Amino acid sequence: MRERLLNIFHETYRELRPRAPLPEVAVEFFPFANVNNTIRMRDGKLLVRLSDLLEGAPDAVLRSLAHILLSKMYRRPVEREHAARYRRHVSSHAVSRQAHLARQTRGRKRISAAQGQAYDLEAIFDDLNVRFFHGLLGRPTMTWSAEHARNRLGHYDPAHNAIVVSRVFDDPRIPRYAVEYIVYHEMLHLKPPVKLRGSRRCVHSAEFQREEKLFPEIERAKALLKRR
Ligand SMILES: [Zn+2]
Repeated sequence: MRERLLNIFHETYRELRPRAPLPEVAVEFFPFANVNNTIRMRDGKLLVRLSDLLEGAPDAVLRSLAHILLSKMYRRPVEREHAARYRRHVSSHAVSRQAHLARQTRGRKRISAAQGQAYDLEAIFDDLNVRFFHGLLGRPTMTWSAEHARNRLGHYDPAHNAIVVSRVFDDPRIPRYAVEYIVYHEMLHLKPPVKLRGSRRCVHSAEFQREEKLFPEIERAKALLKRR
């Protein structure tokens, strides 16, 4: 398995960067609490951690994931076909069911502050992560705010690495896409490089706003949230 994985990463690296010298690559499966995959460069060595929920995935899926991770690493566009193949696999019934079980058994034992009356913020994060970020964002602590704050929809708190969503929206009368939009906005703040300018200020560059528009129901969500 290790050999096969390394081969997949080497071959994908060659396709993306035919002229660059092949760096040393280490790939391992890791028991994340959800379908997470990380890649980083340290001392010239590429370190890849794949969710062990993907152990036994077909080679084609692992190839697509290698393409996604290496493209992100080297700031190349992710090919649509690879993105679609990986997304299909992760959202398939079997994998999402396994992910759900892993969340329950590996997640914190206490009753999570992420699980509200109407919505589970961790499930929303994981779903958006696969739909919009290729499952590449590490999940911070997800929590509904303690008080029913109306002045802020949500915010990312870098000191506690937490996304906090106002409890006002944990309500079955609020459509899911509106809560998703709030979480999606905060997830864009998580994308590297994370700008730590204190927890109160949030900075929205042109790039940020362009990416925010990729959320399909953005206009409906904004209109609805304005009325609250
Ligand atoms: Zn913001």
